[in-house]
Amino acid sequence: MEAQPPSQQSQILQNSVVVFSKNYLPLARINIKRAVVLLVTGQAESLDLSSAKPWEIRSPSLVLQVPSHIRLTVGNPERHWKVPLVNRREVLRRDNHTCQYCGSSKHLTLLHVIPRSKDGQHTWDNVVTACEKCNSTKSDV
Ligand SMILES: [Zn+2]
Repeated sequence: MEAQPPSQQSQILQNSVVVFSKNYLPLARINIKRAVVLLVTGQAESLDLSSAKPWEIRSPSLVLQVPSHIRLTVGNPERHWKVPLVNRREVLRRDNHTCQYCGSSKHLTLLHVIPRSKDGQHTWDNVVTACEKCNSTKSDV
């Protein structure tokens, strides 16, 4: 393998890595140096979502492959990470723009799986895509 010139190395360090929770929910975008620390300390593992080539980081003593997506292996990351607010666009994208109850792709809304009236949280794992019809049926129950 050829050594990378220093300029290329510092360019790699400009990149950012997407961090997912243990439950595969997107948490944050962090800089690559922070990702390296998580990987080296065993707090995260590579999450290969794409076939993208990992970035290669070299130090005098080791060569590290840093993927563009990592997943935390430690529990309860929400305590340590600022979780982005639930965002309609991201939820729709995660659910492939289809109602999770009937598969419709029209009149989509967000639905709390555990209703807010029953202490359901507005969190990524309690919010799903549902069409207006299913949403109103479900909230009647
Ligand atoms: Zn529906």
